Amino acid sequence: MTSETPVHYRIIPSQPAAHLFEVTCTVAEPDPAGQLFSLPTWIPGSYMIREFARNIVRIEAHAGGDVPGESTARAVSVEKLDKATWRCAPVRGPLTLRYEVYAWDLSVRAAHLDDTHAYFNGTSVFLRAHGQDDSPCTVDIQRPAGPAYTDWRVGTALPRAGAEPWGFGTYRAADYDELVDHPVEIADFAHASFEAGGIPHDIVVYGRQNADLERLARDLKRICETHIQLFGELPPMERYVFLVMAVGEGYGGLEHRASCSLMCRRADLPQAGLGTITDEYRTFLGLCSHEYFHTWNVKRIKPEAFLPYDLSREAYTRQLWAFEGITSYYDDLGLARSGLIDAENYLELLGQTATRVWRGAGRFKQSVADSSFDAWTKFYRQDESAPNNIVSYYTKGSVIALALDMTIRRATGGERSLDDVVRTLWQRYGRAGQGVPEGGVERVAAEVAGSDLSEFFEHYLYGTEDPPLADLLADVGIDFTVRAADNAADLGGKPGKATADEIARRGTLGVRSGADNGGARLLNVFDGGAAQAAGLSAGDLVIAVNGIRAAKDNLEKLISSYPPGTNVTVHAFRRDELMSVEVTLQPPPLDTCVYTLKTNADESTAARREAWLGPAAPTT
Ligand SMILES: [Zn+2]
Repeated sequence: MTSETPVHYRIIPSQPAAHLFEVTCTVAEPDPAGQLFSLPTWIPGSYMIREFARNIVRIEAHAGGDVPGESTARAVSVEKLDKATWRCAPVRGPLTLRYEVYAWDLSVRAAHLDDTHAYFNGTSVFLRAHGQDDSPCTVDIQRPAGPAYTDWRVGTALPRAGAEPWGFGTYRAADYDELVDHPVEIADFAHASFEAGGIPHDIVVYGRQNADLERLARDLKRICETHIQLFGELPPMERYVFLVMAVGEGYGGLEHRASCSLMCRRADLPQAGLGTITDEYRTFLGLCSHEYFHTWNVKRIKPEAFLPYDLSREAYTRQLWAFEGITSYYDDLGLARSGLIDAENYLELLGQTATRVWRGAGRFKQSVADSSFDAWTKFYRQDESAPNNIVSYYTKGSVIALALDMTIRRATGGERSLDDVVRTLWQRYGRAGQGVPEGGVERVAAEVAGSDLSEFFEHYLYGTEDPPLADLLADVGIDFTVRAADNAADLGGKPGKATADEIARRGTLGVRSGADNGGARLLNVFDGGAAQAAGLSAGDLVIAVNGIRAAKDNLEKLISSYPPGTNVTVHAFRRDELMSVEVTLQPPPLDTCVYTLKTNADESTAARREAWLGPAAPTT
C-alpha cells in the first residue's frame, strides 16, 4: 500500500499477549544523504525525559512502499546513532521503516497493549522522519488478527481520512506535531456523547466498570460550557474526546489539543442512581475540568519555549505556575461556577489544596518559578526529600492564582479579575498562535489590574513567601485559618474535630509513614520535626516506641498519647541494623488550612463573593 502523503504510518496491535505493536513508517522522498528517524524523549504536558525509544525492540528498513507481509528483499541498512535516533542508508524513492514497540506502561503518558485494549500516544510509537516535521501524514490503524478483537473500536480525535466513525482505517494529521497530539484508545469501550460550544464531545471509557455515563455526560457538558463561556469560544476543532481508562487503582490525566487521556479508579465514576456527588466523583470531575481547561491554557496559550516543541530534550520555562497553577485554580472553580458543587464544597477543595502547600517546608526553599524551571529533575522526579526541598507549581501555583485573582479584583473595585487575564492571554497569544514570553503572564496581569504587580510576583512567585490569603479573602467574606491536623488522615478544608486542649496534649514525630514488614516505614521525615532532630531518616523501619511494638496502624496513636516535650525511645531498623534513639516529641504544627464563609458578610461583600463564584461574565 502506498500513500499520497509524504509520510505514511501503519500501526497494528500485532501481538497483544506480548504487548507488541508493529509499526511502519514510509517516507515518499527520503533524505538522499540517509534518512534520519527519532522518537521523542518526552511527551508534552509531562515534563520528564522518559526515553520512549527504549521500547523499540526491533527495527529494519527496506526500499519501496509499505507492503504488509512482503519480504524485505531490498533491505536497507539502519544504523543507530544515539538513544533515540536511527539513520537509514541512502535510497532513492520510498523508504519504509518497520519496527516493533513494546507497550506495557498503563499510564496516560505512554502506550499499553494487552488482549483487553490497545492504547497509545504517538510519542511512544511514531518515529519522526527528520526534515518532514511539517509534512502532512496519514496513519492506517489496523485491527489485530483473530476473533477476540472483532468488537474493538477506535477512539481518537485524530481526523478520519477514510476510516468510518470509530473504525479501523486511515486517519490523518497536518504535521508530526498534530500526529502525536491525539492519543488513541482501541477496545470494546463504552461511550457517551454530548455537545458543547457547538462541537460534538465524546466520552470513551475503557475498563471494567458499570458507570452512569449519561450522568457523566450531563455533568461534563456543564463544566465544558463553563470554560467555553470564560474564554468566549472553543478553539477550532472538529470534535473533542475524553479518553478514560477505568482501573482498580490509578489516577492521572494528560491534555491534548482536542482530547485528553484520563485514568481513574472505576469507583470514581458515577454509579447508577447516584444522586449526590461523592468525594471520589468530585475529584474525577475536577480532573476532567483541569484537562479541558488546558485546551486553551498550555495547548494553545503556551510558553515560547514550547513553540515549537523540541521533544529531543528538556524545554525550560519558569511559567508552569501559570499553565498548571492557573489551570489547577480554574479546575475546581469551574465545578463551583457550573453549579455542580456549592460554595461550601468548593471551599473544602480550596482548603485541601492550601493544606498540601502548607505541609511542605520546601516552599521556603524553592520558589514556584524555580520549581517550574526544574520540573524535569525535581518535581517530576521526587524522592523522600520532596516535602522538605521543593514546592509544587500546581498547588502553590493555584494558591498564587487565587491570590492574584483577589488582588486584581481589589485593585479594580471588582471591575476585572483573573478571568480577564486568561481571556487576554487567549486572545493575544493563544488564538494568534504566539508563544507567551517569559514574564508575559505577569505583564498581562499588571495590565488588567491597571497597577504595578511586580512586588506581588517578587514575593510569591520568585520569592518563597505565602500569599496573604486571610487578608485577600476577607474581601469576599471568607475566613482563612490554619490549624493543627486532627490526625494523619486529615486532608484539611474543614474545621478540625479536636479541641484546643486535646491538641495541646498531643505529641508528634514529624513523619509520614507507610506499612511495611510489620513495622512503620518512614516515607518522609520533615525538616524541623522531632524525628529528624533525633536522627531518624526516611527509609527507617520503626518497630517500637517505648518498648511497645509499632506499626503503621498504631504509630501515630502511640506517639500522640504522649504530650509534647516527652522523651520516648524509638527502635528502628536502618537497612539491617537496629538502632535506638531518644526522641523529644513536638507539638503538632499548624499546617492544615480551612476557608469558611463569614456568616455576617455585608451586602457588597456578598456581591463580590457572588461575582467570583458565579458564572464568568461574558467576554466584552
Ligand atoms: Zn495540568
